Amino acid sequence: MYSPEAMILLKSGDRMIYADNAATTKLSRTALEAMLPFMEESFGNPSSLHTAGQEAAAALFNARKDIADCIGADVKEVYFTSGGSEADNQALFTAAELGERKGKKHIVSDKIEHHAVLHTLKKLEKRGFEVTLLDVDGEGFVNPEDVRAAIRPDTALVTVMTANNEIGTVMPIKEIAAVCRERGVLFHTDAVQAVGHIPVDVNELGCDMLSLAAHKFHGPKGTGALYVRKGITPSVLIEGGAQERGRRGGTENIPAIVGMAAALKEATAAIEKNGAELTKMRNRLIEGLSKIPHSVLNGAAEKRLPGNVNMCFEGIEGESLLLLLDIKGICGSSGSACTSGSLDPSHVLLAIGRPHEVAHGSLRLTLSAYNTDEEVETIIKTVPEVVDYLRNISPVWQDLREGKRKYVIQ
Ligand SMILES: *Cc1c(COP(=O)(O)O)cnc(C)c1O
Repeated sequence: MYSPEAMILLKSGDRMIYADNAATTKLSRTALEAMLPFMEESFGNPSSLHTAGQEAAAALFNARKDIADCIGADVKEVYFTSGGSEADNQALFTAAELGERKGKKHIVSDKIEHHAVLHTLKKLEKRGFEVTLLDVDGEGFVNPEDVRAAIRPDTALVTVMTANNEIGTVMPIKEIAAVCRERGVLFHTDAVQAVGHIPVDVNELGCDMLSLAAHKFHGPKGTGALYVRKGITPSVLIEGGAQERGRRGGTENIPAIVGMAAALKEATAAIEKNGAELTKMRNRLIEGLSKIPHSVLNGAAEKRLPGNVNMCFEGIEGESLLLLLDIKGICGSSGSACTSGSLDPSHVLLAIGRPHEVAHGSLRLTLSAYNTDEEVETIIKTVPEVVDYLRNISPVWQDLREGKRKYVIQ
């Protein structure tokens, strides 16, 4: 998205409405304050035996314990990573390695996973794995019965995300995990969008591995964790020291890890309150934007992340919509954050059945507790104006209005 020309249009000092919290979130004050001492006076290496080192080791242990507590895990089941992508990679390579030892080389997943999962699966295909990608329904749900039907005697892993990063659909993870357990197959879930936003407890869900990332719940970027159930040994991703029980060498990023723990504790304590408030704001936003003619909500209406709004508007380009909204001080997203530079529409929108031309006209707005009702009203006022403007200069819209083309969205 970055272009110097677009940046010139942003006047400094203008108030900005940030509604792209699925891409990343603002660091919370609590997290920042927890981090500061570990970037100043407490800078020791946790592997050192002296006092400075042991201070850092204690901070590392406490952060691991706090994160474990927030997701209902044991402290020994939490492995730190550089974020959600690494956690996903680690989970899939771990299951692949275990599978290979038993001659099991089949993996079940679905078509709307994050690229951190989908691209790792591609890599595993090159390593000789067979991958079944399940279809999702029109709201983005994976059917647990489809998982049951796809599992084979040689299935090494099932991996299905807890909540989708584009359309916000919250999957029936408990049911899917139960099917996997019944069939004795490892189950991983990418919970990067869920942790800190909706209650996540690894034992209640029944998953064997679970990925999370700090910067999606107001923690710092570049840090995350993988939960790995006791009895499963993660594969070695980085050779080196004895850090992370020898599974990931390298001196730990103590400030970031401490910040992640503080952010998750804060988010978990406020999960009910923030969830209820965000759900209200989200529903108001959906209601307001649905008044735009020929628009449609993407994803589930009910089982949906509290802050996620994703809609398609017929006859416009999502990228143009984004740029104009940006000029008006509203930060949103079109499909996933990685689509810039590619002409392909979102794989998620295609998977829920949106035709190409409609999928191109999508807008994702993701709210956080830092957004206000006033901001929501500003968005509700601004988006229809921009959509109108773009439709008026769109030849496709002209054709639709003159009946030379049929509306896909009624
Ligand atoms: C953001 C995200 C990731 C990647 O996390 P990073 O910390 O950016 O590596 C993976 N999966 C989902 C669902 C995400 O939303």
